[in-house]
Amino acid sequence: MTDKRSLKPRTLAAQALGAIDPETKAVVPPLHLSTTYIRDPDNQYRAGYIYGRPDNSTTRQTEAVIAALENAGEAMLFGSGMAAATSVVLALPPGSHIVAPEVCYWGYRDWLKNEAPLFGYRVDFVDTANLDAVRAAMKPETKLIWIETPSNPLWGITDIAAVAEIAHKGGAALAIDSTVATPVFTRPLELGADIVMHSATKYLNGHSDVIAGVLAAKRNDDVLWARIKQVRGHHGAILGPFEAYLLQRGLRTLEVRVKAATTSAGVLATRFSNHALVSSVLYPGLASHPGHAIAAKQMSGFSGMLSIRVKGGEQAAIGAAARVELWKRATSLGGVESLIEHRASIEGPGSPCPTDLLRLSVGLEDAEDLYADLDRAMRAAND
Ligand code: PLP
Repeated sequence: MTDKRSLKPRTLAAQALGAIDPETKAVVPPLHLSTTYIRDPDNQYRAGYIYGRPDNSTTRQTEAVIAALENAGEAMLFGSGMAAATSVVLALPPGSHIVAPEVCYWGYRDWLKNEAPLFGYRVDFVDTANLDAVRAAMKPETKLIWIETPSNPLWGITDIAAVAEIAHKGGAALAIDSTVATPVFTRPLELGADIVMHSATKYLNGHSDVIAGVLAAKRNDDVLWARIKQVRGHHGAILGPFEAYLLQRGLRTLEVRVKAATTSAGVLATRFSNHALVSSVLYPGLASHPGHAIAAKQMSGFSGMLSIRVKGGEQAAIGAAARVELWKRATSLGGVESLIEHRASIEGPGSPCPTDLLRLSVGLEDAEDLYADLDRAMRAAND
């Protein structure tokens, strides 16, 4: 019998860890919708399931696949990426200090800035690519450093191993939003992070039809992880079984999807770097990107996400997005269909996103078709 630990992540995911329905031998495990479970006559719950709010077996199976992909001790699924990310903070003692990135997913930054303080947390925002700034922000009561790399929507890169060292030296945990890198390209727990988070809505599911979030931890027995488990159970933040089932299906093709999108993103980044109507391309795979060397050290691919800054400013950028036919004008990322977004419009006032920026989530269409569509749209907007 092959030792599962020797198998590659792609193999484990393709077969959902080899899960077979024991009753029928079906190769696709059944979807368990039950919200409650029978107690044994002697008053025990030997099957390990009591009630659906803290626990569901379809959800647990999908968690096991993600834990294997992240080389984690355990993973927990949540009803959204935001539910996963906010649960990490809500598991900390009130009064805790948190160091967070100046630039990251805007919805989370907004929550950290405006809502976390209402629960008694203090948050300082720094450029996490600048290690001196991270060090300087640490306080005796700092319990968490949160990073996102590559970070939305400028694709800044933070050195995971270096920040893990700073966090641990200061007695804090390091949590990382690794949605864009995916476990295909970066395994943050192996680089010293304590908790890795994904909006599983994005690449992990990959088909723009599930909202989900996940946390994975190196150890399943530490205090913070146990508190997060309590928060998920009490707040009822677990992912529903149907979404977990769809997510498990999406995970089977994660590696091929992410690699194909990344190949096309690399082609587009190079071609748009030489485009007369583009002033700059933000993509960690380009040697000109300030985080390229660190990205190359901690990522085995540079992801399917890039942004372009359009000459002619905000109106030219919005005008180009208005004229695409193949790219879908929508928010979100990581699906099989390519998305284009004038990011400043959705982030609103206070956004660090330049107004001439278009965020591109490259899907699985042919890269030449994608290039031709956006090239034509930019030229038409410029006429
Ligand atoms: N993190 C990143 C990098 C994201 O892009 C998003 C959503 O856009 C989130 C977190 C939040 O995830 P969700 O929409 O699943 O709550």
